[in-house]
Amino acid sequence: MSTPLQNAPLLSGSALAKQMKEALKTEIADFRQTHNSTPTVAVIRVGNDEASAGYARSIEKNCQSVGVNFRAAVLGDDASQQQVETQLQTLNADPTVHGIMILEPLPSQIEANALIELLNPRKDVDGVHPLNAGRLAAQRPPYFVPATPAGGLRLLESTGIDLVGKQAVIVGRSDIVGKPMAMLLLHRHCTVTIAHSRTQDLPAICRTADILCVAVGRPALVRGDWVKPGAVVIDFGTTYTADGLKGDCDQASVATVAGWLTPVPGGTGPMTNVMLLSNILQAAKLAHGE
Ligand code: NAP
Repeated sequence: MSTPLQNAPLLSGSALAKQMKEALKTEIADFRQTHNSTPTVAVIRVGNDEASAGYARSIEKNCQSVGVNFRAAVLGDDASQQQVETQLQTLNADPTVHGIMILEPLPSQIEANALIELLNPRKDVDGVHPLNAGRLAAQRPPYFVPATPAGGLRLLESTGIDLVGKQAVIVGRSDIVGKPMAMLLLHRHCTVTIAHSRTQDLPAICRTADILCVAVGRPALVRGDWVKPGAVVIDFGTTYTADGLKGDCDQASVATVAGWLTPVPGGTGPMTNVMLLSNILQAAKLAHGE
């Protein structure tokens, strides 16, 4: 699955995601037949935010491509916390809904954390509920892993590199990417360092990494001279700029040093989409006692 990208082999998320989607399609068809039920996800959206509406459309398309049902609960801009919580409780209790996603941004009167606490952890396909984060940290299944780091790990594993004992540096400590990525690599016996905006001498820390994962949201933050020769670099960054979609790595200079590099676009993004579908199927199986 490697294609040369200047010097570093390209770790193509598009190619791996395509393969995984085909396998998932078959698994979902089998599930429907066995259980007479279709894996179903519902998103809750509040207000008219265009980014959130666009994200909902892309989730719907992604679901349709493999035979997952998609539903949207859309509340007005002026919805109260109580109204959103009532909607969430309805979905929590609906046995035909297997996964629930709360799309952000939410209007300022809505408290996202209170909603997340209320979300049924067995339907938390984004892996944002503290119970899932804690179960991931403690390695006590069942739990949902957020789709983006789960996809990053699959890409890493696709290199065939032995992860045991490797020095991993994760730049970024968000609950949705950086922290769960650190947990996943720790569980694979990497020695993990988590860096963030207060880290001192970030370039020197990045240069220690055999595996460098970057989830910051600052285009071209990481340059070639920050990278250890031969390192695997997973670029989670996705920032829309006037020049198109950009990752957190300066791809041209990093590619001359890295052993492997995920491109942007076509790297971690497509893997996030497919891992979300995989989480929805997992939630449907969980609901059916599998
Ligand atoms: P986030 O919640 O904003 O977290 C960003 C992290 O980067 C924070 O931990 C922050 O440190 C750290 N940071 C900011 N500036 C830094 C600097 N100069 N040096 C070192 N660390 C710095 O972002 P996120 O949700 O994790 O997303 C990160 C990126 O991944 C974004 O581009 C986002 O669009 C992208 N993303 C991609 C996918 C995908 O499918 N590929 C999915 C989700 C997100 P502090 O904690 O100290 O503030």
